[in-house]
Amino acid sequence: MKCRVCRGPAVIDIRRHNANFCEEHFLRLCRDQVVKAVHEFDMLRPTDRVLVAVSGGKDSLALWDILLELGYRVDGLYLGLGIGSYSNDSGAFARRFAAERSVTLHEIDLLRTHGFDVPYGSRAAKRAPCSACGLSKRHLFDQAALEGDYDAVATGHNLDDEAAVLMGNVLHWQTEYMARQHPVLPAGDGFPRKVKPLVRLGERETAAYCVLRGIEYQLDECPMAEGNKHLRYKDALNDIERASPGAKFDFFFGYLSRAADRFADADAGRRDLGICIRCGAPTTADVCAFCRLTERATSAQPVHFDRTRRRSAPSPTPEAAAP
Ligand code: SF4
Ligand code: ZN
Ligand code: ZN
Repeated sequence: MKCRVCRGPAVIDIRRHNANFCEEHFLRLCRDQVVKAVHEFDMLRPTDRVLVAVSGGKDSLALWDILLELGYRVDGLYLGLGIGSYSNDSGAFARRFAAERSVTLHEIDLLRTHGFDVPYGSRAAKRAPCSACGLSKRHLFDQAALEGDYDAVATGHNLDDEAAVLMGNVLHWQTEYMARQHPVLPAGDGFPRKVKPLVRLGERETAAYCVLRGIEYQLDECPMAEGNKHLRYKDALNDIERASPGAKFDFFFGYLSRAADRFADADAGRRDLGICIRCGAPTTADVCAFCRLTERATSAQPVHFDRTRRRSAPSPTPEAAAP
């Protein structure tokens, strides 16, 4: 197996490129794909201050590393979700990455700052864990970016993620979500700009990037992910990709270039926005979805098998309860 560029020994084959790459040229390929995505979708300017949503997994750490290598001013934000040892380990990987490079990692602990964590809060609010988790992440990353005067929030969504989300949206014809499925969401109406610079890289590539760069990351899957439909869609797309290399890329990028415009009018998400009377975030209701989640997640005291931890859990902080 020889590198397509230098004919030296290859370390990875990428079937959708019909090519193999040595370490040096694979790492260059990853950076080039990010540069291409950033330019193609006008994601970032050289002077932008960027906040990376860091989970401690391969994608967000690879993204942070690549953006630093490309010379962007990037800080990280890790959100402690309170998912037992999974969250503890994920936070440790994020902290180690930041300490090794002497870069800034902000941290928000959901339980300490808002009075609930994902396992108990989602149960108390009667929401699926991933739904409560996703809502919390979106709200708190947006809020932190605006308060910290960052120009953009960058997330580690890769090609596999985007293709799986698109597949779910198409299967159920969720046209409103399809209209918003773009590698860039511009700033406005109280939202920061949101960018996905890894959209041209698959998750096998971000994992290989981390291994070759010596980046340690959370290998375990989140224990709350069971039942998450997107994992099933990823499996289905991986089967298709095996039979037809490049199918995922064509599916997602073909949608962007040939079909996304047709659904633009379905995006009602940013119309008629007001301001949450509790936190000031943009919302279509009086109280935003995150404040409603916080209220429901902290109003009930779910029975917990670990009584020590339940007793030690702090009550909602003023930020969570105050208007
Ligand atoms: Fe959150 Fe669900 Fe992802 Fe776990 S799998 S981190 S609960 S969104
Ligand atoms: Zn090479
Ligand atoms: Zn609110």
